Amino acid sequence: MESASLLKRHGLRSTPVRRLLLEIMDATEHAVSHADLEQQVGGEADRVTLYRALNTFEEHGIIHKVLDREGVARFALCMDNCSTHTHVDEHLHFQCTVCSNVYCLPIEHYPRVSMPNGFNLVRLSLVAEGVCKRCN
Ligand SMILES: [Zn+2]
Ligand SMILES: [Zn+2]
Ligand SMILES: [Zn+2]
Repeated sequence: MESASLLKRHGLRSTPVRRLLLEIMDATEHAVSHADLEQQVGGEADRVTLYRALNTFEEHGIIHKVLDREGVARFALCMDNCSTHTHVDEHLHFQCTVCSNVYCLPIEHYPRVSMPNGFNLVRLSLVAEGVCKRCN
């Protein structure tokens, strides 16, 4: 992944912090939490800058948020064709019961859910639990 061109494609200015965040997420096999990112970014950016960059990425369809079992937000690069205002992340989120990491896993058939009258589907989230390949 070329972080600078990814930012450009989504109409965002390329700054060192933004590029660094994207590179960390690209290099990490599982979704990362704020705490993970803060730790890895170190002194390069303060907490507010980090939060703001993550929000911007999410709004522009570059990353998506996953809530883990404990309700902690974790972030991962979008693997599908997400764009500003539209996320189409139709994959499974797999949380390991040993290391607690959350992985984005592609699945062949993403379910189509038809809603009863009066219900409006905004987001469908598929979460699985098990043991990841590193802990197996
Ligand atoms: Zn997305
Ligand atoms: Zn694991
Ligand atoms: Zn995901």
